[in-house]
Amino acid sequence: MSFKTTCPYCGVGCGIEISRTGSSLKLIGDKDSPVNQGMLCIKGQTLLETVGSDDDRLLVPSTGSWSSAIKRISEAFKNTPKDSIALYLSGQMLMEDLYVAKKFAHAYGIKNLESNSRLCMYSTVAANNRAYGSDIVPVSYDDIYQAETVFIIGSNTADCHPIVFNHIKKSKAFVVCVDVYKSTTAKRSDLFIQVEPGQDMVLIDDLVNQSWFKDKKTLSVYSQGLTQSTDATDKVNALINAHIKTGNINKPGCGVLSLTGQCNAMGGREIGIKTQDLTATEFFSTDQIKTLWVMATNPAHSMINYRQFETLIVSDFTKTLTTQDADIVLPACSWSEQTGHQKNSERRYLEQNAFLPPAGESKPDWEIICLVAKELGLEGFDYAHADEIWAEMDIDQTWTSNIQVREVPVEINTPEREYGSSINNGRLLAQWHGMSRTGKSETLNKMTQENSAMVSIHHITNTELFKDKEVELDKYSKQPCFKG
Ligand code: SF4
Repeated sequence: MSFKTTCPYCGVGCGIEISRTGSSLKLIGDKDSPVNQGMLCIKGQTLLETVGSDDDRLLVPSTGSWSSAIKRISEAFKNTPKDSIALYLSGQMLMEDLYVAKKFAHAYGIKNLESNSRLCMYSTVAANNRAYGSDIVPVSYDDIYQAETVFIIGSNTADCHPIVFNHIKKSKAFVVCVDVYKSTTAKRSDLFIQVEPGQDMVLIDDLVNQSWFKDKKTLSVYSQGLTQSTDATDKVNALINAHIKTGNINKPGCGVLSLTGQCNAMGGREIGIKTQDLTATEFFSTDQIKTLWVMATNPAHSMINYRQFETLIVSDFTKTLTTQDADIVLPACSWSEQTGHQKNSERRYLEQNAFLPPAGESKPDWEIICLVAKELGLEGFDYAHADEIWAEMDIDQTWTSNIQVREVPVEINTPEREYGSSINNGRLLAQWHGMSRTGKSETLNKMTQENSAMVSIHHITNTELFKDKEVELDKYSKQPCFKG
């Protein structure tokens, strides 16, 4: 018996085939997938090392039963003014989960609804809106094979989106990489241009003069190095402007491709997971939020201004630094136990299919949200299966490789800035986010220990910016993180 599903890590969206013989499972890349054509990076290849239960797996609600947990959450919600309640979601959650979370927030009157994926790519959403009139990704992975130049900026694609980089290397394109350090991508490119931190705008402005850009069919590929930097929206618009000015747009092999970090970051952005009040960072930096429900993410590990809340509720499949201090912890299903949809960087809808039963008493995120909604007296949350939610969403899944966009350059008014010392971070090929899933793989941990780049993370302790912050090893992932 075999099942097709999709990798839960990055926004590339690789298809996976799982076959079962007796009690043994085998995982391979799906050769029929138009995204990866059978290829998988090391994280995808080792996914079976991360499934099932271990000592950190959450199996029952921390209150002892689902009924007591749901009652306590309902009481916390009723006892908290609505503008002091927030839901903090994740690009790891499936379309169905995010849709139900948004429906619940809307029905109950919660304005503070954010996803961690907004931190990393809403500058792209804003830039697309300014340039094209709406949030359109006009190109696809097909364009890689039609481009004469692939221009990579602010993305260590080889380590962070390895299968997209495999496509780039398989194409005949001349590969140009811009980065502040000699990343794996830089080493494997035909031309590496090293810039000082903050100076990438100067380089983007000069693209119209570079023959490898203006005289060739050029596809630009970027990621968080651009979208999570100072003046990020202007930088993305400047890049789109360079394409418009050189005619490198609306033609095969030409245009701008943003690589989304998480598997369903694109889906969350299209569903419109977006606050109407405080932003995600303000959930943590102001004291307005008293009751916070975190789902499928680990802000205690990554939010520099992380603080305590009056009531912290966390849904996750495994213990993390965030579950450690939570008042109520809810066991959520893991990747192998959950069915639904993701939407990848090139905006394809991809199916994720459960091939194992839920561990312990764990439940899919959408079902947990429905239980709370019903306890609060809300109607319209009686789904028996994720399929019913998908049907209600009524999404047109038609996919085209290219979308025509308008060609109107946006005026850029980025002020001159002084850049002093700066901090940059990156990802490792063998790990993902806070390692709550990848940290369970022996193969990936061994690769990580052998990777000397890890040392660079510890340098944050030496900077002025972080001098008052205490850094400790995360008990679960064994990675450095801020305390207090
Ligand atoms: S490239 Fe991304 S989606 Fe593909 S196997 Fe690797 S982590 Fe999974």
